[in-house]
Amino acid sequence: VKIAVMGAGAMGALYGALLAEGGNEVTLVDAWQEHVQAIMEHGLQVETGGCLKTFSVKAVSDPLLLGVQDLVLIFVKSYHTEVVVKNIHHLFHDGTAVLTLQNGLGNADIIAAAFNKATVLVGTTSHGATVLGPGQIRHAGAGDTVVGKYSGKIDQHLSDIAAEFTRCHLNARTDDNIMGVIWGKLLINAGINPVTAICGVLNGELLKAENIRQMAKLLIDEGEAVARASGIELPYNDTFAVLEKVAAATAANRSSMLQDIMSGRATEIDYINGAVVKEGEKCGVPTPCNKFITRLIKELEQRGSDRC
Ligand code: NAD
Repeated sequence: VKIAVMGAGAMGALYGALLAEGGNEVTLVDAWQEHVQAIMEHGLQVETGGCLKTFSVKAVSDPLLLGVQDLVLIFVKSYHTEVVVKNIHHLFHDGTAVLTLQNGLGNADIIAAAFNKATVLVGTTSHGATVLGPGQIRHAGAGDTVVGKYSGKIDQHLSDIAAEFTRCHLNARTDDNIMGVIWGKLLINAGINPVTAICGVLNGELLKAENIRQMAKLLIDEGEAVARASGIELPYNDTFAVLEKVAAATAANRSSMLQDIMSGRATEIDYINGAVVKEGEKCGVPTPCNKFITRLIKELEQRGSDRC
C-alpha cells in the first residue's frame, strides 16, 4: 500500500516506521528539514524500552515530490491541519483514503471540508511516542488504534486498512461509534492535560492531590453534559473513573500539554477544552470551567517563560 504520512514527529514517525517495516511503500513528509535529512541519511531510529532499532523509510519535506497515494495519514499537531491539507490534493485519486488519529475535535471536519467526505477516516490511538532529536523517536507505550468512517458505516476498505495496521503491530480495530470513541478520549485529555500543565505536575498527581483531582472532575463533568446534549454515545458509563485508571497507568508521565508549556510550544488546547466550549455553545450547555482553563492555558502559551 502506498502511504504518505503528513507530519513525521513522534506519532507520524512511529506509524510510518511500523507500516514501512510491514512492506508498505511509506513516505514520511515533515517540514522539519534536519529531521528529514537525518532519516534519509541514517534511517529512523526508534527507541523502545531501552532498545534502539533503525527503520529504513523514505522522508521528504515537500509533499509536491510525491505522486498519488492509497492512504494519507495526517499526524501534524491539530493547529497545523488546515495548512497541511491545502497542499496535498495531488496525492489523491478516487480510491485514496485519508486518516486522522490526531487528538481532540475538529481535525476531521477540516479534512472533510477539503476532500471527499466518504474517503475520510477518523479514529484514536493510545500508542505513546516522543521525539528525542532529529531522526530519533521513543515508542513510550504500545496501545490500540481505533478507526471508523467520518460519514457512513464501516466498509471492507476500512476493515482492510485496520487489518493491515494490526499486521504491522499497530493493534487496530474498527468501531461504528467512532465519534463516541473520539469524545471518550477527548474528555480524558480535557481532564488530564490542562490541570497537569497549569500545576506543573506528573499525571500521577491527579490521584494524590485532591484539588487537582477535583479540577479534572469539573472539566470532565461539563464535557459529559455537552456530549450527552450533542447526542454522543460515550463509550464509558463513568468517564472520570477511566481518567483515574489512565492517570494511574501513566503516573510517571508528563502530559503532552505540560511538555508543550514547559518547552514554550503551542498547545492543542483549542481542539481539546476549547472544542468542548465550542460544542457546548452549539447545544446550549454552559462550560464555564472549560472556558476558564482554555483562557488560562492560552495566557501561559503567550507568556512562555516571561512571568514574574
Ligand atoms: P509532533 O510535534 O511530535 O509531530 C508533529 C510533526 O508535524 C512535527 O515533526 C512537525 O515538524 C510536523 N509539521 C508541522 N507542520 C507541518 C507541515 N505543514 N507539513 C509537514 N509536517 C509538519 O506531534 P505528535 O506528538 O506526533 O502528535 C501528532 C498528533 O497526534 C497530535 O494531534 C497529538 O495530540 C496526537 N497524539 C500524540 C500522541 C503522542 O504520544 N505523541 C498520542 C496520541 C495522539
